[in-house]
Amino acid sequence: MGADLQDALYKNPEAPIADRVDDLLARMSLEEKLGQMMQLPAIDEGYETYIEKYHLGSYLHALGDTIVQLRRRNAEKSRLGIPLIFGIDAIHGHCFEDGSTVFPTQLATACSWNTELFGRIGEITAQEAYGAGLDWTFSPVLCMARDPRWGRTGETFGEDSFLIGEYAGALAAGYEGAGVPFAACAKHFAAYGEAEGGRDSTDVHVSERNMRTVFLPPFKKVLDAGCKTLMVGYQSLNGIPCSANTWLLNDLLREEWRYQGVVVTDWNNCGQMVNLQSAASDIEQAVELCLEASNDVFMNTPEFFDCAVALVRSGKVTEERINQSVRRILHLKFSLGLFEAELQRDKAEHWQPERWQVSEEASRQSITLVKNDGTLPLVANRLNKVLVVGDNAKNLVNQLGDWAFLANKVNNVDHRTVVVTLEQALRERSVRGGYRLDYLGADYCGPLNNEAPNRFAIEEAARDVDAIVFCAGDDLTQYGEYHDRANLSLPGNQSAVFDLLVETGKPIVTVMIMSKPHTIGWVLEKSAAVMIAFNPGPFGGSAIADCLFGDVNPAGRLPISFPVTVGQLPVFYNQAPGWHAQLSPKYDKTDHYVDAPPESLLAFGEGMSYSSIVYGDAQIMASKAANACSLKVNIKNTSARAAVEVVQLYARWCIPGVTSPVKNLIAFKRIELQADTGFDVEFELNASDFVVLDRRLHWQQYTGGLVLLVGSSSRDRDLQVLHWQFS
Ligand code: BGC
Repeated sequence: MGADLQDALYKNPEAPIADRVDDLLARMSLEEKLGQMMQLPAIDEGYETYIEKYHLGSYLHALGDTIVQLRRRNAEKSRLGIPLIFGIDAIHGHCFEDGSTVFPTQLATACSWNTELFGRIGEITAQEAYGAGLDWTFSPVLCMARDPRWGRTGETFGEDSFLIGEYAGALAAGYEGAGVPFAACAKHFAAYGEAEGGRDSTDVHVSERNMRTVFLPPFKKVLDAGCKTLMVGYQSLNGIPCSANTWLLNDLLREEWRYQGVVVTDWNNCGQMVNLQSAASDIEQAVELCLEASNDVFMNTPEFFDCAVALVRSGKVTEERINQSVRRILHLKFSLGLFEAELQRDKAEHWQPERWQVSEEASRQSITLVKNDGTLPLVANRLNKVLVVGDNAKNLVNQLGDWAFLANKVNNVDHRTVVVTLEQALRERSVRGGYRLDYLGADYCGPLNNEAPNRFAIEEAARDVDAIVFCAGDDLTQYGEYHDRANLSLPGNQSAVFDLLVETGKPIVTVMIMSKPHTIGWVLEKSAAVMIAFNPGPFGGSAIADCLFGDVNPAGRLPISFPVTVGQLPVFYNQAPGWHAQLSPKYDKTDHYVDAPPESLLAFGEGMSYSSIVYGDAQIMASKAANACSLKVNIKNTSARAAVEVVQLYARWCIPGVTSPVKNLIAFKRIELQADTGFDVEFELNASDFVVLDRRLHWQQYTGGLVLLVGSSSRDRDLQVLHWQFS
């Protein structure tokens, strides 16, 4: 860097960011600008040379010393001293760094209905990732999971737009408000989870009405709150690849929403428009189309550089268009203080003492009890022997779930020292509690074991036990990107093993350590108790054991519905009823399948505890504020155990000429109730909060009748119905 640059305005940390950006931009060559628009993986051969070759602005998937070396190299080579920005998929903790805190997956923590918890997780993750040299996480994931065949279901917050917005808002605010300069990234824009048939990254066809009312609101909420970056999905939306979708990225995002942040493509979105989507005849055309849409950073499309130079030189793309993106990128780098930052950071300095407790708490709050005939909680001194069955009781990778390891680090030794598996936790308890524990692991039963089960071994092992803990689920090779499933039954020989366990006549407590909903009707019917533990984190094993023995009163509520059978999909709770929904005496038809029930197996919002919570009669009355009401309901914990109740409020409205879902979650409260105590839960509703999309796609203040449903889950039987009229 020349000595004359030391006095340049952009070097002055006191100067306003906008002035620094303008000053720097005016000094940059076209090539230097285009390099800022590129992000390449630090795992390619020769990755370090990208700095000179492309004047590269950003790396992803860099770790440890590599980051420091790249920052050094860049400081030496970059003519203008423009810092690199490093991104990573720290989506449930910065799991790729030795010693950093791993949290349960997004779907697991989403069972907590605890937005504050997500805020804490965001803060800790940002501090640790920042300390490890990173600036930016590709999280939160705002995709909606309404087809669990989709391999990435476990990366999401579940199926509900409102809940996703609440969680994502808290997580992004945690990342960006952690006291360290760090950027969040709302992804994947938009409706990526609606891939046809749950097959990842295939075409998505969603009407503008559905986009605006269901898929876009969580993004709008998070971006309005200041989220610095946004990632565009791989897939096409109504036939137009999202990265080339000028309606989505220009008209809506930039014009209508006035979003000023950085937009990054997903991994080679641009190249796949040529290779797979047949949406561009060659890569130059793809780059041109993606530049016409408002992308700023091109992830892993190295051809971008030469193509963009040619496009600008030939006049097909203006340099002003390039400047627009570079301004946004430089603004991000200045706002993160990267121009002033040290090349090396001290990671340990950012490790908070209570970080593992937060992870453990998240594990506990993620556990969701969905059936209990009274077998639970287990009482140690009434047990002589317990049989634990199933690979996932001891499988660390499946306990942590996807994105807990980078692909080449599946054997990360560090995670292995922290994780407590269910088998381990139950064994430790057996020593303290004085009962015997036998374990039949992967050789007998597991998602990857396709052998016919060994009947003799199972009968022998179960002979004199008091209870069986059957730990079933899926394996990392069966979910995540590239791993969608047509069947959602228990993989491997787990169903066959379960049948043999049922034959023993012993009480079976089933624990599902899995990435997403499965069709577990038979298991639900035949088990004495069932606990859902979506990849529950490093302390998942001890958290489940604590719940099994009642040291922790389970409090999770499902953020996603479970189908009875795959053919019944979709089963998300807030669908609009069909014309046949009402059972007609004349035609005896309904809008559900003749060979499957109308209801999901397990419903959104469902979950139990060991306490009994009694709801009083809900009341609704006008509030002091104009055109507002307040809904009150008393809940009482009639048991001798402290409990958590999640009071859920749903609404149905009527918009002239528009079909409306049977109910939509509009608010919830997570209440901690001591033993034998009651609490008045109150929801304030203002007419001004109800803005609806009319028949002609205009947002309107809602006037009219509101059906309000309050209770403990989205199931009709768990809800009280009230009516209100807004004027
Ligand atoms: C995924 C993104 C991720 C990116 C970078 C892609 O394969 O779809 O979610 O952020 O890779 O790792």
